[in-house]
Amino acid sequence: MTIVSEKIGDRLYELISDLFPLCRSITGDGVRRTLEILRREIPLQVREVPSGTAVLDWTVPNEWNIRDAYIRASDGRRVVDFHASNLHVMSYSRPVNASLSLKDLKSRIYTLPDRLDDIPYRTSYYADAWAFCMSHRALAALPDDVYEVRIDSSLAPGSLTYGECYLPGALDDEILISCHICHPSLANDNLSGIALATLLAQRLQRQSRRYSYRFIFIPGTIGSITWLALNEHDAVPKVKHGLVIACAGDPGSVTYKRTRQGSAEVDRAAAYVLAQAGDRYALRDFSPYGYDERQFCSPGFNLPVGCFMRTPHGEFPEYHTSADNLDFVRPAALEDSFRKCAAILQVLDDNRRYLNTNPKGEPQLGRRGLYGALGGGPATARAFEQTILWVLNYSDGRHTLLDIAERGRLPFDQVKSAAEVLEKHGLLTELPT
Ligand code: ZN
Repeated sequence: MTIVSEKIGDRLYELISDLFPLCRSITGDGVRRTLEILRREIPLQVREVPSGTAVLDWTVPNEWNIRDAYIRASDGRRVVDFHASNLHVMSYSRPVNASLSLKDLKSRIYTLPDRLDDIPYRTSYYADAWAFCMSHRALAALPDDVYEVRIDSSLAPGSLTYGECYLPGALDDEILISCHICHPSLANDNLSGIALATLLAQRLQRQSRRYSYRFIFIPGTIGSITWLALNEHDAVPKVKHGLVIACAGDPGSVTYKRTRQGSAEVDRAAAYVLAQAGDRYALRDFSPYGYDERQFCSPGFNLPVGCFMRTPHGEFPEYHTSADNLDFVRPAALEDSFRKCAAILQVLDDNRRYLNTNPKGEPQLGRRGLYGALGGGPATARAFEQTILWVLNYSDGRHTLLDIAERGRLPFDQVKSAAEVLEKHGLLTELPT
């Protein structure tokens, strides 16, 4: 259905590898550097929204930046070093410079007792706090000592940064693609969605588009709330379909989470594409937790935005730990996610409604050269002829091409080609969407 470079999985993986070392959070220079890297691939407007801006029921927080952090033993050795892993510091930790006994230090350290070698990922955006994270095994090995603890961070008025890539199409109506950019070195949760959205935008940029497309790269929750607040009267009413992309690079099968509306066109396009692909997949109904679909699908907006994932958040043991790393995401899984997302967007872009101009009895196709006229062998020709009959019969003004493809269990491209041929012969006219 879609033509993509054979190397797309490798390109997605490379982009993830480039972004992996950066220390992102919901604000700060890690987000800016991330967007700079994405700007090498796609046209991206970078927006800065000042701290203190009221956005819906929320306020844009102070900006957080971090330069260094460590826990140093009395012999001078760094037993925890931010530069070894940015997960070692709880995101939004306030600056600290202190000496602590092992006992007091332990009350400031998060570990995962059931995953001895992994560092947990913790955040504290809206409370004045600080903490370190480390592997349970490393904590258990710390000798009794007085430790120097330092977090060289700043938490001060600045801005919330996000990126937006707008690709105009023939219609003002928009397809919204969103991904979160607020996690530090976590590959599947965060970077897989960023990489997919970026290369999908790059691909769409090079092809003709019926819809306009808006890709937003935003910090989770506060970013979508900010975007919705700033665009409530402009872009939001134009959103006809949308996808949040997250956790799209792990080896699990695809999970699509429906919109709150439940049977929006994007829900049907996703279900159709996943069924046609023939691989294992799961469909889930909307629930008010997960990623930014929570905000897009809040009742005051109720946008038709679904969520494309592989293994959902919290359902893989590597989730929010240092094990969600470059070994956990796979080029083949990324490529599979890319192809399926691209196919869903293609179905949405090509889904049209036609009217049969000769609805009384079947039109005489042989006279018009529409029987046996197609190359590719008798089986292909017969399949195409049958598709023509499906399209003619159901183009009664009420059924779209996706309706017909679903009903006839037909490849969407074939249905689309049949409609184009019939339109050329004056047997169909396109109706407004
Ligand atoms: Zn997460």
